Amino acid sequence: MKDGQRREFLRRAGLVLLAAGTGTSTARVFAQSKIKLGAKDALIVVDVQNCFIPGGSLAVAKGDEIVPLINTLARNFQNVVLTQDWHTPGHVSFASSHPGKKPFESVKLAYGNQILWPDHCVQGTDGANLHKDLAIPTAQLHPLNGEHQELDPYAVFAEAEGKTKAGLDGYLKGRGINSVYVCGLATDFCVAWTALDARKLGFAAAVIEDASRGIDTQGSLAAAWNNMKKAGVKRIQSGAIA
Ligand SMILES: [Zn+2]
Repeated sequence: MKDGQRREFLRRAGLVLLAAGTGTSTARVFAQSKIKLGAKDALIVVDVQNCFIPGGSLAVAKGDEIVPLINTLARNFQNVVLTQDWHTPGHVSFASSHPGKKPFESVKLAYGNQILWPDHCVQGTDGANLHKDLAIPTAQLHPLNGEHQELDPYAVFAEAEGKTKAGLDGYLKGRGINSVYVCGLATDFCVAWTALDARKLGFAAAVIEDASRGIDTQGSLAAAWNNMKKAGVKRIQSGAIA
């Protein structure tokens, strides 16, 4: 993927040079210095659902602030995917499923350490609905993650990949998309895992920091940024795009 990233960088650098060399105005050249998005880029809007918004059962502080920004960002992308966390009742990641445990404590499960959450995003409940102000008419796909009772994989790629080729990985690659921009809730969990999974599957990936908000429990936010940096996930601000 390093070669791919280099090619991508060179392609973008070439576009800037082309703009500078064709007598365009200073303002035009400045505009070209933003990330040039095209058919190979997708925005993935992660879990902007009522449970994660202030007032919800697993509220992410200031989670509602990102909604207007995400609506604006989405207008710059030809490809937009909205994901939803989507749990069965009594899910293994819920503290209520572990007698004596409280939310935000950890347990060791077969697949590793699991932070326990308040019940959230139970299938078919209002808490699992997307935030009402999210307005992205161009969104093409709504993959649901966390359907399996025994797993809390957080991110949609892993879940989708194990199930069917029609999952998110297949959907994006089938459209020639090779670069994803991830935003939403929460930075240190579903957003980070989505970006990390994207890298594992060969996509270039960036997280749009100011269009995301974190939970930050037990040092999770710093750890997530560190893991993403190691995996080659770019950390960008919305101003680089829109
Ligand atoms: Zn969840």
